[in-house]
Amino acid sequence: MTLELQGIGVSRGIAIGKAHILFHNQPDVREYLVPVFSVEQEVDRLLNAIEQAREQLKAIRNHIPANAPTDVSSFIDTHLLMLNDSSLTTVPIEMIRTRHCNAEWAMQLQRDALINVFNEMDDPYLKTRQDDIDHVVNRIHRILADEDVMGDEILDDRLTGHIIIAEDLTPADTVLMQHQGIAAFVTEHGGATSHTTILARSLGIPAIIGIESVRRYIQDNELLIIDGETGTLIAGADEATIAEYQQRLISFEQHIASLSRYKSQPTKTKDDKAIKLLANAELPDDISTISNAGAEGIGLYRTEFLYMNRTSPPEEEEQLAAYRDVVESMNNSPVTIRTFDLGADKTVDGGRSTGPTVTNPALGLRAIRLCLKQPNMFRTQLRAILRASAYGKIKIMFPMISSQQELLQAKFLLTRCKQELKNEGLAYDPHIEVGVMIEIPASAVCAEIFAKQVDFLSIGTNDLIQYTLAIDRIDDHVNYLYDPLHPAVLRLIHATLEAGKKHNIPVSMCGEMAGDPRYTRLLLAMGLEHFSMHPNALLEIKQVINETDLTQLPRNTLQIMNMADPFDADILLEKINSPIHKH
Ligand code: PEP
Ligand code: MG
Repeated sequence: MTLELQGIGVSRGIAIGKAHILFHNQPDVREYLVPVFSVEQEVDRLLNAIEQAREQLKAIRNHIPANAPTDVSSFIDTHLLMLNDSSLTTVPIEMIRTRHCNAEWAMQLQRDALINVFNEMDDPYLKTRQDDIDHVVNRIHRILADEDVMGDEILDDRLTGHIIIAEDLTPADTVLMQHQGIAAFVTEHGGATSHTTILARSLGIPAIIGIESVRRYIQDNELLIIDGETGTLIAGADEATIAEYQQRLISFEQHIASLSRYKSQPTKTKDDKAIKLLANAELPDDISTISNAGAEGIGLYRTEFLYMNRTSPPEEEEQLAAYRDVVESMNNSPVTIRTFDLGADKTVDGGRSTGPTVTNPALGLRAIRLCLKQPNMFRTQLRAILRASAYGKIKIMFPMISSQQELLQAKFLLTRCKQELKNEGLAYDPHIEVGVMIEIPASAVCAEIFAKQVDFLSIGTNDLIQYTLAIDRIDDHVNYLYDPLHPAVLRLIHATLEAGKKHNIPVSMCGEMAGDPRYTRLLLAMGLEHFSMHPNALLEIKQVINETDLTQLPRNTLQIMNMADPFDADILLEKINSPIHKH
């Protein structure tokens, strides 16, 4: 029987593959290598998890009602005894030390070995002890998983070609997927501009979000079809449907290939207005796609990936190597490095700030706020960026600036770092350009204040829309309110562009809106000249730009900023975009 489920398509492409379902209550155990210098830390992780498991079990035992059957408490006691047994403690610890594997994997290997031993026993009672081993190991795995720390080197290729079905995925999970060759992912929750979906687009993985309870309807290893554009998931498809989607997959690939003719063309409108097309980089692997797509530089280099899936923040030398690598591979094209925007949905694994749960993380200690709160971590990054600027054209950009004070503090720290480097005789570009992201309504309204004090502005529409319309970008319940055409959003964008014009500094846009062909002409009409987007979108946007004659756009184009009714705005947008071919 064919089952068709509908969600929100957030990353284009067709995938046909088997389902791999992730359940939180059965942690997905992955293997990765632990660097030699972190081995003892990994042993401590396991010891802590075992200690926590012990505490949990003791707490459960203390809450057993007095009239409960004695079996219940002896069951708990057995588990407590197992936690003291060397086969579940000493042996996995030895494995971490000798094989340099992660704690989860060591537990899993020892679990499998013990289950094999029990399987060979004839005694039916002892055979039932297998379940106890699984319960105890599962508890430890869950505790380890809650720490949300993964390895930087995944060796597990079980997921290759699979379609991941999960309740939700963090950006850190998504980063790990790039090495596992997964075909697509589907989640029950999430938002179209969450960092997880941005990463999916960057990795070119088709993705659907917001299919409620999808894990209940799909079975592990079932063949699925995913359309990441329409948001359709099909299970149990007949042969004709599979053939149809295979054909669509070929057409999609042909369409992408056909765009390559734009690669060597300059980016300019039919009426000769030159436009700068820049790329957003999320991951080191993006650099080759960026060079292939003919971007004129990197308009947003997100540095957070350097901090994810590890136990301590990257040192200056490691960061320097990463930034130097990117600027050198861009052959003198400018690279705009954004200082870390950790917090909210991108947890600070590095800082391991496992403090109290925050009710509104998007409004909390994030981005520049966290940078200024952790000046040492910030300083390390600023020094690395400055030192990399000796190897090519680097610009520095601060995220989530909301007030002049924040900008002044950040600039002050930057000046101090420059002074330090000078004293140490280390090279850097003394004229490095500094810009701020305009992604908070307050900054857009006051864009002129910032325009006077920086070299460039960059509009981050993902957050600007989130904060203007008060919709959490990772909450699927309010997804329907996400609207780049809302007059408030458009007016803030326009105000920022005008501020840049007045003070004669460039304004770029690096949010997802810049890479969505539906808005390209409107943004051109509003005066945007620098577009920065995930590299997979570059050629399509170039196609729209090169097929646009600004003098031919409807006269009332900018009236869209006054249209309170989304229906009217959509009709005008259609007019603006005709006859652009829609894919
Ligand atoms: C934005 O907010 O639009 C942006 C580009 O930054 P990020 O998506 O990383 O928050
Ligand atoms: Mg942002």
